[in-house]
Amino acid sequence: MTGRPVPVREEIRALGAYRLAPEDAPPIRAKLDFNESPFDVPGEIRADVLARLAAKRWGRYPEFGAPRLKKAIAEAIGRRPEEIVVGNGSGEVILAAVSVFAGGRTLVLPTPTFSLYGQIAAIAAARVMDIPREGADFELAEEEFLEASARPGAVPLVCSPNNPTGGVVRSAFLDRLLDIAAVVLLDQAYVDFAPSADDALLSFGSRRNLVVFRTLSKAYAAAGFRIGYAVAPPALVVEIEKAVLPFSVDLAAEELAVAVLAHPEVARSQVARIVAERGRVAEALAAAGCAVATSSANFLFVRPPDGDAARVRRGLLDRGILVRDMTAAAPGRLRVSIGSRAENDLFLEALQEVL
Ligand code: PMP
Repeated sequence: MTGRPVPVREEIRALGAYRLAPEDAPPIRAKLDFNESPFDVPGEIRADVLARLAAKRWGRYPEFGAPRLKKAIAEAIGRRPEEIVVGNGSGEVILAAVSVFAGGRTLVLPTPTFSLYGQIAAIAAARVMDIPREGADFELAEEEFLEASARPGAVPLVCSPNNPTGGVVRSAFLDRLLDIAAVVLLDQAYVDFAPSADDALLSFGSRRNLVVFRTLSKAYAAAGFRIGYAVAPPALVVEIEKAVLPFSVDLAAEELAVAVLAHPEVARSQVARIVAERGRVAEALAAAGCAVATSSANFLFVRPPDGDAARVRRGLLDRGILVRDMTAAAPGRLRVSIGSRAENDLFLEALQEVL
């Protein structure tokens, strides 16, 4: 027996374990901390999915390469199946793409941005270069970002609309970034909540070096089933798929995805209600003295008047309202998901008491 230490890679050891500590709290009345949909998949679609699933052979693997799912996604977004990579949530597909394009190289991130990218970079053994956002709306520092992205071995990853700040990249900037960078990774998990002018696939879908990530976890209210995808030129799809393990989308997720994509009107009407509520909640927060960044997503990035995000989060939790304290990403900020009208009212009432 030797006393040698178990060799954990240094960048993994250095990561904080992703853990949500259990806390003392009353029953939760509004869960506004994960940017989930306050709605759900409608009853008839659920019943249909369950019936189809019951008729399947559960002892067999799903169809290799998920051709039916790729076809459904391609049709829903007006692309070809050869342009689609599917995965167990978009997180898995982002990990695959970062591993393929940025492993051993440098991922360029406009921060604050989605915290999972840091973990993904560590797993993929990519270095990270942060380019801080600036101004009241946390806008991307375009010139600095372009300069960093043009360097050899640099791989830009942009989230638009950005989690947690809510803003979108400008089309003119994306155009320049695609010209200057070897490959551009663009996470559009929240694009359904933004104006259609911000749909990068409509404007830049024919570019040879663009990889766009999408998910059914947000606008399609299907987070429990884990379905995400990338859209990229077929030559890049072939490479990304080498880093996705086979059969990562299971039978149930595939069946649900096909069903929700066949009913785009459901997501459309749910999104319209969330967007209307986003405007109402943002106005109420501003009236209460909070700073609120302009958002094209299903959440708001909020600074309470006293800038004490930790105190406000705890006060809200004591009243059964869950929101996210984003102090680590931006001092004094909270991220609040847009819930149902009733949940948003509970949040705004509780906030008045806490303030
Ligand atoms: N990208 C962004 C920006 C997100 O906020 C999330 C979920 N919070 C994801 C990707 C991952 O979503 P999923 O794995 O559920 O598709």
